[in-house]
Amino acid sequence: MGEAKVIKGIGASPGIAIGPAFLLDRNQQKVMKYHLSEHEIEAEKIRFREAVDRAEEDLRQLIAELPEELHEHTGILESHLLMLRDSMVFDRTLRFIESERINAEWALNRSLDEIKLLFSRVKDQYLRERAEDVKYVVKRIHDILSGNHITNFNNLDEPVVLVARDLSPADTVQINQENILAFVTDMGSRTSHTAILARSLGIPAVVGLEDITARVLSSSKIIVDGISGLVILDPTPEQVRQYQAKKEDYHKYRLDIVYNSHLPAESMDGFRVKVKANMELIEELPSVIANGAEGVGLLRTEFLYLRQKKLPSEEELFSAYKEVAERLAPYPVTIRTLDIGGDKFVSSVSLGEELNPVLGLRAVRLCLSEPELFKTQIRAILRASVYGEVNVLIPLVSGVLEILQVKEFIETTKAELREEGVEFDPNIKVGIMIEVPSAVMVADLLAKEVDFFSIGTNDLIQYTLAIDRVNEAVAHLYEPLHPGVLRMVKKTVEAAHASGIEVAMCGEMAGEPMYVPILLGLGLDELSMNPIDIPRIKRMIRSIKHQDCIELVASLLDESTAVEIRETLMAFLYRHFPDDYDLPLGRYGDGQGRWGQQ
Ligand code: PEP
Ligand code: MG
Repeated sequence: MGEAKVIKGIGASPGIAIGPAFLLDRNQQKVMKYHLSEHEIEAEKIRFREAVDRAEEDLRQLIAELPEELHEHTGILESHLLMLRDSMVFDRTLRFIESERINAEWALNRSLDEIKLLFSRVKDQYLRERAEDVKYVVKRIHDILSGNHITNFNNLDEPVVLVARDLSPADTVQINQENILAFVTDMGSRTSHTAILARSLGIPAVVGLEDITARVLSSSKIIVDGISGLVILDPTPEQVRQYQAKKEDYHKYRLDIVYNSHLPAESMDGFRVKVKANMELIEELPSVIANGAEGVGLLRTEFLYLRQKKLPSEEELFSAYKEVAERLAPYPVTIRTLDIGGDKFVSSVSLGEELNPVLGLRAVRLCLSEPELFKTQIRAILRASVYGEVNVLIPLVSGVLEILQVKEFIETTKAELREEGVEFDPNIKVGIMIEVPSAVMVADLLAKEVDFFSIGTNDLIQYTLAIDRVNEAVAHLYEPLHPGVLRMVKKTVEAAHASGIEVAMCGEMAGEPMYVPILLGLGLDELSMNPIDIPRIKRMIRSIKHQDCIELVASLLDESTAVEIRETLMAFLYRHFPDDYDLPLGRYGDGQGRWGQQ
């Protein structure tokens, strides 16, 4: 046995698995290339068409047989069905066969190269990622052409850890928990479809390992730790024992938190906090509900703009918002108006070159300067408000004038709808995100103008500490526990409560269990987070006393550095949660919390 190797990737789906590797190296195949003689061309075109027919048939069958818990993912496979016949793939390949007199596999590769080139020039990330889907579709046809397309995961002799360069969504939905213990891939990110699917399936996965397929031998033993994003090749018996224990612990822990995730988030001494979900994709709705969210505290609407090249119409926005409102009812949804610019771009809105886009024409500033863009959103949100409890949230507000303009805009839009006889909730709540330091400084004035606050710590920390949130070189300075940040939060909460309005937190800080005692102590009314974090946060709230948190915060606020604050917080956590899974207390964590990797 060789020496154990520990490789760090991205934990895409939590859980632990130990078993033999099964190397799926279909991607490494060389593509056969040959020229055709004139009389072979027609036959080759038929061969290609038949392969596409077959791919279509296979996909349809897969969709028809999709297990209940994966129904929400039908859309991905249906989009692949459409791509099979897309002229970029289908017509182009036929053209290459004919004009270049090359075999179908080669022609298909030529088409893919051109498509990749086209996509690589696209700025918008969502569209760029769609190139991945085209690759899956092309590969499906390739596999059929080369007679290599059967990967029947159900015929495996024993349960395995699947090791692949990449897995298409179609591959992933065929995986069943009985014979696939986990999967690990060279490619992928936490937000790739495959990762999302793995989480729906509850199969541990580590992705983005770069060259894992080159380092693993089929049948060799492998440990997959989807919690920490680690893979161990050829583990020692001691490592196997250790991870076996971790696996059992994790299993018990999940049962416990999921069992309790629908209980209210109430501290041991009766302090009630609303725990809601942040949502970026409609596909996440089932996970929002399953994880026990009491509504959606932040619906980032950018996804509707990223999915297509043109601007979405009012009808498209309305139908998406209506669906969310209806499916969540009686729980509320807070819909944020478009927050692009800064580090978020979409292809349908051209923003011009800016030297400092993060300080530039973004979010509400952009919306106010593009009334048509804003109007479509506000109309869609207002119209959706009769289908459930809908609130509207305005991002990046920096002062009173801005919110007065927004309110006037909303009132004008309401008047138009009224005139048109279109229904809406006249009392729809309007809130703002607190993510700019000036908004904190005038929070008392802003609180008189709006119905609620939602603190966006991702941006508030960036602007308070002057740390670019996506710049790795300064990531270590991105510090939620900086006294400046905690004071900002405190000031915001106090201003809101003095005016009798509620204050939520919807930045990443709200979903990190170790910060819960501070957030409770500061008096936040609501925490909104990634759905998967909800059970852990609720559990943390339920096992703590609000009074203890208030005392903790009182002592923290006297401290002058984040280092001291962290020490005090850690001592508190050790005292109250001596061996908790979710806290970076050394047993399982990396001592950094998630912030270390931001
Ligand atoms: C934030 O800034 O904390 C926030 C929730 O908004 P986003 O991450 O979408 O900018
Ligand atoms: Mg923000």
